Formats: sequence, structure tokens, C-alpha cells
Amino acid sequence: MQLLDVDYIRSDFPLLRQSGNSLVYFDNAATTQKPQIVLDSIANFYSQTNSNVHRGVHSLSQQATTMYETARSTIATHINAKHPHEVIFTAGTTDSINLAAHAFGEKYITQGDHIIISDMEHHSNILPWQLLCERKKAVLQSIPLTASGELDLQALKTLLTACTKLIAVSHVSNTLGIVNPVHDIIAMAHQHGIPVLLDGAQALPHFPVDVQNLDVDFYAFSSHKMFGPTGTGILYGKEKWLEKMTAYRSGGGMVDKVTLQKTTFADLPEKFEAGTPHIAGAIGLAKAVAYINQIGRDKILLFEEALYNYLHEKLAYTEGLTILGDAPENVPVISFVMNGIHPFDAATLLSEYGIAVRSGHHCCQPLMQHFGVSATIRVSLAFYNTLEEIDYFIEKLLDVQKLLKER
Ligand code: PMP
Repeated sequence: MQLLDVDYIRSDFPLLRQSGNSLVYFDNAATTQKPQIVLDSIANFYSQTNSNVHRGVHSLSQQATTMYETARSTIATHINAKHPHEVIFTAGTTDSINLAAHAFGEKYITQGDHIIISDMEHHSNILPWQLLCERKKAVLQSIPLTASGELDLQALKTLLTACTKLIAVSHVSNTLGIVNPVHDIIAMAHQHGIPVLLDGAQALPHFPVDVQNLDVDFYAFSSHKMFGPTGTGILYGKEKWLEKMTAYRSGGGMVDKVTLQKTTFADLPEKFEAGTPHIAGAIGLAKAVAYINQIGRDKILLFEEALYNYLHEKLAYTEGLTILGDAPENVPVISFVMNGIHPFDAATLLSEYGIAVRSGHHCCQPLMQHFGVSATIRVSLAFYNTLEEIDYFIEKLLDVQKLLKER
């Protein structure tokens, strides 16, 4: 499986390099490690170009503005947005969804309207809509899941009515790794004139996303889950929506003219970027995008598919272990439970062997309720993980299982 030179790739990541073989980092859905060129781009910005954007005429400010806007264009190209101004910098997926819920909600949601999410959503794609519905006296509905954890599209069909004003679902489940049939959902929604927001936090780290091909109305994601810095994210929105939507946060940088009586707002994208943005974060994210493209998105996809199949098979053959969710398309993220063993205990013991996995509800309590569990163990891989790491993980998982059963 020499699709990628993983040794070479790992040497790009100081944290993986520093810990040699002693760390098996399988918590990539929570956050990914950062390659040196991303770290350098952030340090270089602060040491060589640091200045505020958009407002200065001096050359440092102009340089910073060019870097910031170039970062926007790089990201627009990466997701194939029609215009760079459809790419709004935010603090992350959570912030992006909050922006959409406030700015879209303020303009388009009124009493009695319906907003549809799903039972597999991350809390970040539940709470902003739940609170919006409370504010507007609208109704929050949810697409139920099939027994195998897939979105029940038949049930979605019955939910769509003239009252439906938005569908907001995840592109990829952060807990199950299932890739949702978003093309079908968007087509179904658009037949009824309903816009769709996708939570893409777990998609972009693994495969190319083309917002024009998807014809999606809004797309939210985080930099830190795709090898970029924390504190930065994106809300993509179609121009036709963003232009009409109400400004979310207000303050400097997002205005055209201010008098004490009335303010007119700046054009896109500044209208949604009040205050000093995370300039270094945007530059770091653009570098992460360049890094992903340099490795090759198709190569990453194939390599991760092989990692996923290997891990899935090993787990599926482990006695006393149940994998949650089953779907035709997946990213290398797998959740499972083990008979008589609390996920927290297993993850704690695995950590003693230098293995980082996540235990808990993964901010998906309704999904946990669907499966009748309170927590799972989640293994989430990235392209710098190896088959050898999976072997080591399985070996230690079996040790942990034996140890905890004997207690
Ligand atoms: N949605 C999904 C599917 C996620 O996996 C996450 C992060 N776990 C979020 C939203 C929230 O992302 P952030 O914390 O970067 O805002």
C-alpha cells in the first residue's frame, strides 16, 4: 500500500516527529496535528508582516491585507466557490453555524416555520437551530436514523412541507464516520425551494468538497480539523443568500458609513467579519490547504480508504466488540463499544500505551440515545497514520479488554 510516503509525511509534523513511535495519535476527528509549513507561516506572519488588515495605507498593512485576501481566494478555489467573497472567515464550525443561524434566521425565519436537522448531528449543529427556534417560535424537526445509523431519507421526504425553511445536516458524522447522501438531500430540498446548510467539519480533512457541484447553500468547516490552526473556520454561503442576510456581529471593519442615527454595512465578505480577524489563522489555513493539495487529495482518499478497511476488518473480528453504524461510504472514523467495559476506562488504559483515542458522547447525545449507549470509543485516522499503528492499537486494545474483564 505504498500510495503515500508516510514516513516522509510524518517528518513534516513536529509533534509526531518529536514523540517518535511512542505516540499513536488516533484522535484526528477532535483535532489534527499541524505540519511545519503551517507553523512557519504563522510565525513568519507575526515576525515579518504583522499589521492589521484593510484599514492601513502603509505597506505592512497592505502586505497583511494581500496575504489575508489571498488566503480567502486559496480557500475559495479549494472548495470551488464561485466568488472569494462567498467565503467568510469565522472562528470555526461552531461559529460558522451560529453566524448562519443568526444571520439567516433573523432574515428568513418566522413563527411556525420548520428547520430540519438530524439525529446524528454534533451539538454545534443542534443548539444554534434550537435556540433560533426558541427565539422565533419556529419548530425544530429532525431526520430520524435507520437501525444502521444512516439518515432515513424516506422520513425526510415526509417532513418536507411549505413550512420548511432550511435543512442543516452534517456532511460526515463525527462519531460514525458515515458520509451522508448529501447530493440526494440537496436535490430533494431544492425541489421544494429549501436551502441546505452542510456541517463539513469532518469532510474536508478527508476528501475534496466542491460547493458548486453540490449546489449547497451554506457550508461550514474548521481549520484545526484539516491541519490548520485553531480559532479559524469558514462559512461558505451562496452570494444570493449572504447578500440578503442581516449582519450577525457588529463593530469595526464591517461598515460602509456610520452616523449615530444609522449605519450602512460594507459589502461581502466584510459585512460578516466584524472586528480584527484572525489574520494568522487565515494564512495558516491557506497553507494547510496548499499542503493537502501538495500531497494530493486523490492519494489521501485512496490511502485513507485502505487504512479504514484494515481497521474496520480488525475491529469487526474482535469478540465482544460492536461497531456503531454501517453505511456504504465512510471516512476513517469508527466508534465502537465493548461488552462490560466503559469506554472511559478503555481509553484511559490505552493512553498508558501511548495511544490517543476519544471516549464519550462526542457532542452527539441524540445519536447516543439512538444507539442506546451513553458513550463510545472513537478511533479517527488521518493520512499520517499507518497500518503498523493499527496493529499496535489492536494488540493493546485486546490487552485492555482482557485486563478490564478480569477485574
Ligand atoms: N461539527 C462536527 C461534525 C464536528 O466534528 C465538530 C468538532 N468536533 C464541530 C461541528 C465543531 O467544530 P469546532 O469545535 O471546530 O467549532
